Amino acid sequence: MARGKSRWICQECGFQASAFLGRCTDCGSWNSLVEEKVQEDSFVQRRLSIATSAKAVNALAGPILLNKVNASDADRMSTGISGLDEVLGGGLVPGSVVLLAGDPGIGKSTLLLQVAKAISLNEKVLYVSGEESAAQVQLRAKRLDIDSEFLYVDAEQNISSIYERITGDPARLVILDSIQSVYHPEITSAPGSVSQVRECAQALVNAAKSNNIATIIVGHVNKEGSIAGPRVLEHMVDVVLQFEGDRTRQLRIIRAGKNRFGSTSEIAIFSMDESGLTEVDNPSAIFLGERLSQPGRQAPSGTAVIAGGERNRTLLLEVQALVTTTSNPAPRRVANGWDYNRLLQIIAVLEKKTGLFMGRSDVYVNVVGGLEFEDPSGDLGISTAIATSLLDRSIDPGLVIIGEVGLTGEIRPVAHLETKLKEAARLGFTRAIVPDGKNLPGSGKLKVTGVQSLADVLALVMPGASLKPNAS
Ligand SMILES: [Zn+2]
Repeated sequence: MARGKSRWICQECGFQASAFLGRCTDCGSWNSLVEEKVQEDSFVQRRLSIATSAKAVNALAGPILLNKVNASDADRMSTGISGLDEVLGGGLVPGSVVLLAGDPGIGKSTLLLQVAKAISLNEKVLYVSGEESAAQVQLRAKRLDIDSEFLYVDAEQNISSIYERITGDPARLVILDSIQSVYHPEITSAPGSVSQVRECAQALVNAAKSNNIATIIVGHVNKEGSIAGPRVLEHMVDVVLQFEGDRTRQLRIIRAGKNRFGSTSEIAIFSMDESGLTEVDNPSAIFLGERLSQPGRQAPSGTAVIAGGERNRTLLLEVQALVTTTSNPAPRRVANGWDYNRLLQIIAVLEKKTGLFMGRSDVYVNVVGGLEFEDPSGDLGISTAIATSLLDRSIDPGLVIIGEVGLTGEIRPVAHLETKLKEAARLGFTRAIVPDGKNLPGSGKLKVTGVQSLADVLALVMPGASLKPNAS
């Protein structure tokens, strides 16, 4: 056993301290520091790099002229799933390391067995399972109808043995399921801890780079939504794929959170059943219903399309609102997939600034698709949906509405507007209403209109509607 001293390591970001801290000074997480034994210097890394250095020297005999470097897209391997290839930027790059992150049980192993099936048609694939026995993997493979001569399964958790098997007879693709289940025998902390995850991932990266093996590492996501083990892992790999889903509807989404070989704006949407994951050809059809399948038809009253999400997670969704008269002295306000207090605020601003009275109406709002929508850029679309339901007016179905609504009815700028518009253009939308600004980004055939107030928007989408600000 190597002599090591004790360190407190943040399990979120990998920050090290010599004593316990209640709050990580680096990433600000509370109670994230855990005591781990670490080696004086990176003893393990040194040992592994000695093992790989001979091969690495052979592979890279000195500097190479840049224009003689042999790198082309033709080297990329297709995963057999075109949406996944697109998210990867054109397929798997040999020698690259991909992290596939997602909730436990969401279907990561199923997806990877499907990839293994496609590539093992004519190339050797090694599937290392630290979570399941070889028999369990075989059962799963049978369900997916996999019967390949080039697919090897290894139920192993010791990274030293895994490393030796990977480098002993290199495969074209190595899959490790999962990084939290493997351990390095030289490190005393538990599997899944920062030290373990870091050293095990380093061994896999070394093996991948020195033998030009495409490698996919599975990483489970913890309840806070970050990859358990740490952000250090994200820095070590070339590509981070996020695998998310909505269990009730069997929908799965893959997006790239980081990609050294392509953009991060692509997403792939799958539906999941017993035979595995099937790509959804037109994901907008699922989230946007029939809106896009019948161009030219007016959208029903009370609906609007909003765009939201972070930089790498843009998604367009339909919102529906129903405003209906009630004799109940305390009208109902119901929000599904949207914050309830935010709904109350939107109704108040609508009443005050556009004169639409809802004091004797129930108001229901639903974000279609069962997803929880948290981006305030959905305010404007939801306001529009409520107004069109109340006035029973329909609006242009090719219109996407983006903007945050302030308390004075002003339209506030939103984050990542350009990405949202790009996604709208990609899905075939023709018009967008966005917060007014100096340089409105245009995107393809999308006609972008900037607006300053909620009343402007309603006048724009429902010409002729009578709107009078409420003086009360
Ligand atoms: Zn931290």
